Amino acid sequence: MTTTEQQTEQRTARRPWQDRHADDLMASYAPPLRLLVRGEGCWVWDDEGRQYLDFLGGIAVNSLGHGHPVVVEAAGRQAASMVHVSNYFATPAQLDLAERLKRITGAGDAGRVYFGNSGAEANEAAFKLARRTGRPRILALKNAFHGRTMGALALTGKPALQAPFLPLPAGVEHLDSTVEALEQALGDDVAGLIVEPIKGETGVVPLPEGYLQRARELTARHGALLIVDEIQTGIGRTGAWFDFQHAGVVPDAITLAKGVAGGVPLGALVTFGAASDLLQRGDHGSTFGGNPFAAAVANAVLGEIERADLMGNASRRGAQIHDAVSAIGSPLVTEVRGRGLLIGIGTLEGAAPAIAAAALDEGLIVNAINPTSIRLAPPLIVGDTEVSAFADRFERALAVAAR
Ligand SMILES: *Cc1c(COP(=O)(O)O)cnc(C)c1O
Repeated sequence: MTTTEQQTEQRTARRPWQDRHADDLMASYAPPLRLLVRGEGCWVWDDEGRQYLDFLGGIAVNSLGHGHPVVVEAAGRQAASMVHVSNYFATPAQLDLAERLKRITGAGDAGRVYFGNSGAEANEAAFKLARRTGRPRILALKNAFHGRTMGALALTGKPALQAPFLPLPAGVEHLDSTVEALEQALGDDVAGLIVEPIKGETGVVPLPEGYLQRARELTARHGALLIVDEIQTGIGRTGAWFDFQHAGVVPDAITLAKGVAGGVPLGALVTFGAASDLLQRGDHGSTFGGNPFAAAVANAVLGEIERADLMGNASRRGAQIHDAVSAIGSPLVTEVRGRGLLIGIGTLEGAAPAIAAAALDEGLIVNAINPTSIRLAPPLIVGDTEVSAFADRFERALAVAAR
């Protein structure tokens, strides 16, 4: 090591992590809340040895929590063999995952899978799929979130996120989340409609009862694609593999990411029926997409969700958490929304950030997604210990925030 390198290293060792983050990382995120150094199950530890119950799960990503033996085994085994080969080659892990995704989505024999590495990429693929219908108009919903890349951002119905980056890809119209708005907007020039069944980034707000069924009828009548963004709601979180399955509809395509590989980056577009023939050779691609490492971990995660009935667990624990929050009876809490282990807690105007901050001090990670909503998206493996630890800590946090 040169003297300059040694000096740099010594300086680095002494600088607080907050300063290092501020100096070295792009300023696009808020300052991080803690420096996390270790995880186990539903728990994480910071650099000062404090323990936290992780009820955000890396934003609905850590389906099996932290350090799950099934993930550790699959990752180790695949990494010891091949991490990546490019899409010039197939791998058993990729083929198995595509087959499995067709089965659990219900896409069946006519279904097809495109692999990317994130939610935004899955939605970019869905956007290109819709363009391939040759129709000019794409419908999306106001206040829905579909990702931050330019195409996904064009789909995202949040003008404040879009404003600094105009112009975005054209042709996207944002509707109110009502059947009437959809009836008015649909025509034979519409390529597709993309919806989140529960708007996660808007505070866990489900679509109105019956909306998906009517959207299916109306899009079918006009030959438009129904695309369901299951990136946050999918992979067992709401008590079914995918939230659209509760509504009993068959979409033309869904996108998934977040929880599918337990934290390893992987996204996918899954098409059903005739939509499977829209993308042609050369239309799209990704260097990393569907690599054997991510695919092997995803196979292991999905296998474990099935084996351990974590969808059933999500329904049961979700109901317990719902009841526990209601039972606290805090004047700050106005309602509890969501399905399974995707839960939004409505709060009095402006109270959510103070509640989340108080929770963190009590050793509980939750997320104030906006001034009136707390989001919970814990690992699907939560058990009695975690639910009661949550209830105790959240009650204390609400009491602190109410002062
Ligand atoms: C998180 C999310 C995305 C974007 O996923 P990234 O992996 O962050 O690109 C898109 N849609 C929904 C519904 C999401 O929750």
